Amino acid sequence: MRPWDFAETEKGLIPVPRKPLLCPFCRRSLVLHRFTAGQASEGFWHVDVNMKCPECGWYVIFGVPATKEECEKLKSSPLFGKTLREWPWEPEEEVKERLRMFGYW
Ligand SMILES: [Zn+2]
Repeated sequence: MRPWDFAETEKGLIPVPRKPLLCPFCRRSLVLHRFTAGQASEGFWHVDVNMKCPECGWYVIFGVPATKEECEKLKSSPLFGKTLREWPWEPEEEVKERLRMFGYW
């Protein structure tokens, strides 16, 4: 199963990791910083998910395979391509519970 899911939040659709992603330096949970989606020149569709450690600033980009439909949905999200400096929105209960498990709250 792909280790990423796409979840609807109050502010728009976002990519969400299925398992906690921890910073290799300080073990804090990484938070979503930015995401983009599109078609590579080779033809396949993918989402680039930029995650950041809120403690030390370590930054990583995941290249997540996705369908054209998923990419188009993400592109129409109000959060698409924006730099998310904080988490000011209220995700749906199910997403919230998963994020809580990951240590976001
Ligand atoms: Zn860190």
